[in-house]
This record gives sequence, structure tokens and C-alpha cells, in this order.
Amino acid sequence: MWCQICEQGNVIPAVIKQLKQKVWLCDECEATWFRLEDVNKEKALLYVTYMKSKNLPPLWDELELLD
Ligand SMILES: [Zn+2]
Repeated sequence: MWCQICEQGNVIPAVIKQLKQKVWLCDECEATWFRLEDVNKEKALLYVTYMKSKNLPPLWDELELLD
């Protein structure tokens, strides 16, 4: 799915392994949504910001990509 925030990236489904939290995030700008129906509609969170708020390292290694 095309990211309308950066207009360069692809929004992909993933699970944050340590939280078992499903997310959709852009592989370019790292905009993050928690529900598929919110992607490109609701305001996005940044992956880095969300991970920091959970005291987790904001690395792609923390994700299990579902695509
Ligand atoms: Zn993007």
C-alpha cells in the first residue's frame, strides 16, 4: 500500500515482537498506524516515537514483517 505521507514508501503489515502489537508502517518514513483502516486516513505516529514510549529500541529487528 502506497504511503501518502512521504509518497515514496510502501506501508507494510508487521508485528512488534516484544509487544505482540500489530502495526502497519511505511518502509520509507516509518509512519505507523495501528489499524489497517486508519492507514493514510488517521494521523500517523512515528515508529521511533512509539518504540521509545515503550522503552524499546526503535529497530527494524524488533519487527516481524508479515508481507
Ligand atoms: Zn511514508
